[in-house]
Amino acid sequence: MYTKELLPGLDPKKPLIICGPCSAETEEQVLDTAHQLASYGAKVFRAGIWKPRTKPGGFEGVGVKGLPWLKRVKEETGMYVSTEVATKAHVEAALEAGVDLLWIGARTAANPFAMQEIADTLAASGKDVPVLVKNPVNPDLELWIGAIQRIQNAGVKRVGAIHRGFSAYGKHLYRNMPQWHIPIELGRRMPDIPIICDPSHIGGKRELIAPLSQQAFDMGFDGLIIESHCNPDEAWSDASQQVTPEVLNLIINSLVPRNGAKPDSTESLTLLRQEIDRLDNELVDLLGKRMRICREIGLYKKEHGMKVVQGARYSDMMKSREELAREMEMSDEFIRRVYAAIHEESVRQQIEVFKK
Ligand code: PEP
Ligand code: MN
Repeated sequence: MYTKELLPGLDPKKPLIICGPCSAETEEQVLDTAHQLASYGAKVFRAGIWKPRTKPGGFEGVGVKGLPWLKRVKEETGMYVSTEVATKAHVEAALEAGVDLLWIGARTAANPFAMQEIADTLAASGKDVPVLVKNPVNPDLELWIGAIQRIQNAGVKRVGAIHRGFSAYGKHLYRNMPQWHIPIELGRRMPDIPIICDPSHIGGKRELIAPLSQQAFDMGFDGLIIESHCNPDEAWSDASQQVTPEVLNLIINSLVPRNGAKPDSTESLTLLRQEIDRLDNELVDLLGKRMRICREIGLYKKEHGMKVVQGARYSDMMKSREELAREMEMSDEFIRRVYAAIHEESVRQQIEVFKK
């Protein structure tokens, strides 16, 4: 039996709130942020000591030298402390330093070898520490479940999950797309584990923290992990998504918690409609991208003296799209009408290119 209660002494009826800077930068920054957060009633502090960065050359975290700073946070504020681990060495150092809760980042959760290494290290440590597993960067529920199971199989009893959104190519409103149906399905498949939401990494922008957090509560998430920094604009990582402890306190006080209750039917309808809105945004975005490519093709055809419409290509394309649509339980007739409209607009856009 896995418990939803991750840390002793916290009210299990209240949402779990983990907060603190993206990265531990200096001892002063960590302590200043922690004291401010504690003064607003924060109970669980976060700070990344080892930072997985997309490209080399970025700030990759202060490493083990930051662990005594977390120890000071514990001693001086009484908060629990948490950090991200990605390797055996990280787990060993964090446990040695008395870190109370570990989380596994999205890039690591996508790597079964790394997950197994972490799980084996936890099993060998003989220590009983709660572990939260972020969703992998790619929207693969089975990979996420597999990562969680590796930790559970290591004998860790207090395991939870964090929804931090999924990578998508190109520019979007969100830094990482919140595909809510995935954590919702995770909750259905693993009802005993707490699932919390990370609005900072989903939104990537300060102003999205409050609406995403409320949405998460409305959907019955068990808590939030939010980045907060004493001087957000000067943060060494993720500056645009961090807020001061004061602002974080305002945000949290503005939220309406739902005590983990599942949404009622009107709320479910609202959530489903929000999902439809999101998918429609994606649909229009995708169509826009498709048209842009059509214009490039138009330019190529113009430069090579080719005709706009290539009949054979259209028939081949339609055949494969109809097959796909059938697999997705849509009628051939429907997809033919959709494609006739898309094709008509593509041709119109290419003709515009020819006219120039
Ligand atoms: C983080 O929490 O600072 C972090 C690196 O998150 P993610 O793994 O979600 O990108
Ligand atoms: Mn971050």
